Amino acid sequence: MTGKRIAIVGAGVAGLAAAYDLARGGHQVTIFEAAPDAGGLAAGFKAADWDWSLEKFYHHWFASDKYMLGLIDELGWRDQVIFRRPYTVVFYDGKFQPLDSYVEALKFSLRHFSIPDVIRFGAVGVYLRLTPWWRPLEKSTADAWMRKWVPARVYDTIWRPMLVGKFGEQNLPVVNMAWFWARLKARTTRLGTFQGGFQAFIDKLADVVRGQGTEIRLNCPVESITRTQPGRPGTLVVTTASGPETFDAVISTSSPALMARLVPDLPAKYTASLRALKSMGAVVLVISLKHQLTQWYWHNLPKEAGFPFLALVEHTNFMDAEHYGGDHLIYCGDYLDAGHEYFRLNKEELLERFLPALQRVNPDFERSWVKESWLWKTPYAQPIPPVNHSHNIPPLQTPVPGLYFASMSQVYPWDRGTNFAVEIGRRVARLVAEQLPAAA
Ligand SMILES: Cc1cc2nc3c(=O)[nH]c(=O)nc-3n(C[C@H](O)[C@H](O)[C@H](O)COP(=O)(O)OP(=O)(O)OC[C@H]3O[C@@H](n4cnc5c(N)ncnc54)[C@H](O)[C@@H]3O)c2cc1C
Repeated sequence: MTGKRIAIVGAGVAGLAAAYDLARGGHQVTIFEAAPDAGGLAAGFKAADWDWSLEKFYHHWFASDKYMLGLIDELGWRDQVIFRRPYTVVFYDGKFQPLDSYVEALKFSLRHFSIPDVIRFGAVGVYLRLTPWWRPLEKSTADAWMRKWVPARVYDTIWRPMLVGKFGEQNLPVVNMAWFWARLKARTTRLGTFQGGFQAFIDKLADVVRGQGTEIRLNCPVESITRTQPGRPGTLVVTTASGPETFDAVISTSSPALMARLVPDLPAKYTASLRALKSMGAVVLVISLKHQLTQWYWHNLPKEAGFPFLALVEHTNFMDAEHYGGDHLIYCGDYLDAGHEYFRLNKEELLERFLPALQRVNPDFERSWVKESWLWKTPYAQPIPPVNHSHNIPPLQTPVPGLYFASMSQVYPWDRGTNFAVEIGRRVARLVAEQLPAAA
């Protein structure tokens, strides 16, 4: 044991991954988690008759998620990872059409675009998939870049609705092209999950971390992180409802906005840089149905076609309904600014808004199909990367000695995801371990 005490704020995937490595390095780690369970945005919930938990917000892994799958391999759990090939469809010309692989994109394009447009679309797609150079791409917005390189009909049909769906019309002039590059680069048609759901993976990881000697304090929100008095340089005080505690280093995995509030000692310039990191929230209504709604997994619903939400995800077309007591589970989800009215509506009010869309998707759908519903909301769901965003990313080490910040907003140019939560968690753990002797 090194005798060094390290606090981690947040038992999400990043916090747990950081704890795993720091405890292996012989440090004494304490994780403070505000929620009653570990898992953060990837956490799940369970109805009484389900064997598996379901993610509150739809989640899957890509076959390219090397940091997550690497950690799973290290832990010897690969046999519990399940990969399938569910289908993603877009609503176009009044019906759903698959559009999630080169073959499907080609079939779709040949039906709807001219041959010169198909060739240019294909060339741009291949270029984006192959080029490793994202820095030139972050210099323009995705909208401007696509208008220049992608045939207008293709852009307006396929990629613009996707951008608008995710970020809203208001952010279309903001989001940079590197975000789009990262999205195309990391995606695979095979999607994965853990046996028992993401929460089962998180609980197993939390058990390993506890077994290493780390204490995970659930229901324990951190109120502030401050410096100790002069004479004890490099040490920090974490204050919760139970009082203050001193640590040699602290890692916060909270949102940038929360981080700015938690640490009054941060220089104003750094706090301003945290507040400048913009993001969208998410509202997701989960509904269990008596019958299957469609044959597809992921449905992109264009707002301009009058759908009241962006993504309809039929989870039980990905994982079997038998794990959920035979229920057919759908997510109706959207990414929204924190001021959007959906954040103020309750479950019943959102059901009223959303159910007509289910009948549009499947005319046989009836209200009597609905068994139960659950509503999940988060103000911090999707970072918004503007032009030249690499200059805005705060380093993991903050200006306060011994204090580190590792959030979803810093995995850029990659888009958020549990894979990158593992990467940043392990990266910050390495940095803390390297710098600890100096800090203590
Ligand atoms: C709608 C949606 C869909 C997604 N889909 C996918 C997907 O398909 N695949 C995928 O891999 N990823 C997906 N993600 C992203 C993924 O969930 C996140 O990237 C990942 O979970 C982030 O992990 P984290 O540990 O960095 O942060 P978080 O999960 O946000 O964890 C931070 C933790 O800190 C805690 N905390 C905050 N403040 C305090 C405080 N003051 N005191 C104590 N604790 C505090 C929080 O309660 C939370 O548990 C999705 C996210 C959303 C919202």
